[in-house]
Formats: sequence, C-alpha cells, structure tokens
Amino acid sequence: MMRKTLIATAMFSLFASTAQAAGPETAQPATDTNSTANAPVAKGHFWSREVHEAFKIQRELEKGASGSSNNSTASPLRAARSPNMTFHGGRIMPTAVTMNIFWGSSWATYAGDKMTGLDAWYQGYSNSNYSGTVTEYTGSNGAIGRSTTHLGHLVDTSVASGGGNTSAILSEVCKVISNNPDSSGNGYYAVYTDLKRGSAGYCAWHASGTCPGNATRLQFAFFWNLDGDAGCDPADTSGLHSQGLAALANVTGHELSEARTDPSTSTATGSPGWYDSSGSENGDKCAWTWGAPLLTFTNGTQWKVQGEWSNAAYTAGTGYANSSGQKGCLGGL
Ligand SMILES: [Zn+2]
Repeated sequence: MMRKTLIATAMFSLFASTAQAAGPETAQPATDTNSTANAPVAKGHFWSREVHEAFKIQRELEKGASGSSNNSTASPLRAARSPNMTFHGGRIMPTAVTMNIFWGSSWATYAGDKMTGLDAWYQGYSNSNYSGTVTEYTGSNGAIGRSTTHLGHLVDTSVASGGGNTSAILSEVCKVISNNPDSSGNGYYAVYTDLKRGSAGYCAWHASGTCPGNATRLQFAFFWNLDGDAGCDPADTSGLHSQGLAALANVTGHELSEARTDPSTSTATGSPGWYDSSGSENGDKCAWTWGAPLLTFTNGTQWKVQGEWSNAAYTAGTGYANSSGQKGCLGGL
C-alpha cells in the first residue's frame, strides 16, 4: 500500500552493498512503520510522505482489526487546504505492461484461486471503468490511458524473504525476468509472496528500480500473503473469490493506481508525479473506502476494489467520501 520510504538510510546501505545501480531506488523504499530502529535522515518530501502514510496505515490497520480507532491524525491545519493532489513534474505510466510473480516455496503445491484470479484481474483491468479513474492525470511523458497489457505470471518456488526490503524484492524481480524488464519502461512486476505480514504496518507497497546491466526502469510491487489477515481485508462478501484473493485484489488496485500516477522514480532519474500536500498518493487518499460493492472489469470478472482519488471529482463534488469525508474518490468512471 505504500510507496515509500522506510528508512532511506538503511536502504542506501543495502543498495550500496549490491551491484545494482544504487541511488535512484533509495528515494522510493518501502514503508515499514515498525522500523524505528532505522530512523531516517533523508530529507524532503519523500520522508514526509512516509511519515504521513505510516500513521495513516497504522490507523487503518487498527480500524480493520478492532473496528475503532483511537489514533486520529486529522489536523486542523490540513482542513484549510485543498485535499487535491498536485503535480510534481515527473513521469506517469501512460500504460502498464504487467506481470505477476508468485514467489515462495508454498506456491509449488498451491491449488487455490490466486494465480488464475490475479491474472484475470490484470487482464480485466485494461480498459475498465476502474482504470479510467487515473486517466485525468498527465505527466512529462503524456497522459495515462485505460489500456494496459498483462503478460501472465511466473512462479518462483524458492524461499521468499525480504518483505520490507525493496532491494530484495527488486533482486527477485530481476532474477525472474533475467534482468530484462519490458523495454517500454512501463513494466510493472507484482510480487505476490507467501510471507505473512506479522507486525508489519502495511499490506503492500510499490517501488521502482533497474536491473543489473539494463538501464530500463521498471516498477514493482510487493504483497504479503493476506490469508486471514484482518488488518488488510476488504471484507468482500461476494463469494466470488477466496478471502485471500479478494484481499490481494483490493490492494492490487491501490498499488497499480499509485504506480501509474506517481511511478517511483527518484530525484536522480526524474521528478515524482502526483500526490497531495501530505504526501498521499491517489490510492492512499481513498484507502479502505469503496464506491460500490463490486466493480466489473472488461473480462467480466468482478472485484471489490477500493476507489482512487480524483481531483476532478473532488472539485466537481461528484466523488464519494474517503475516510476523512472528502468527496474525491471514484470507484470507476
Ligand atoms: Zn499507497
């Protein structure tokens, strides 16, 4: 669910210890709210975004787990500002060439619905009304379109590890794709692991990087195994999917939408895209709120997927309310 930033300090050292082109990725590490030992020294918006998101996600998790929250982050100062996102000069993902990577030894004998279900999710996402929630945003390289391409999935049954570590997940992606991401620069690799979340304060995250010997930037995302994980459960009661698949589907929409509007680049390779004054991206701003019980994708599959923030809808007053009561969320146009 988050894009950023645990611990820029730790990530710098991790990247420095690998052969990968360091630097760029360090601006976009994953978030980990319980990593206080890795106190950041990074300055600028990346860290401030992270702090905000960490609090927010923690609050969401508390809500999910207990049904109530005693950790209000509402700020009188923020109330006077427009909640809309602003553009920060960088690239967006005009399209996405997606691939799923199922990583972990348990996938070797897996017989459930996640592999076929998540492939169907990405296939049906292309040209869906839900994908239309991001098309109002433009970047230095054009506008976001509805059409995407799904390449299917690969399975790596080696033991998964490194959930909070962007360099570990990037290394996994590069290994599986033989250091050869989609040449368009719109490659998006979703790593679905069999690791349980434990005490980590996030359900998923997105980041970017490059593989050894290949300058083409790729986007990637990480997902825990959310089976039975109340803190990351959208409570899809449709009966169409297993609980674990439904939970992944919900955060899959969050991460992909954020990657498309604010692809993790870095100050070294380019400016960021769209996020608000608190550092929240479009997925964050509508996290754990839904505009409809189910969205129907273009292949007929149906999913309970959170809405995404629309500046246009907020301005026009046509969105549904997020968890702060701001009516800028869209579940599908
Ligand atoms: Zn997020």
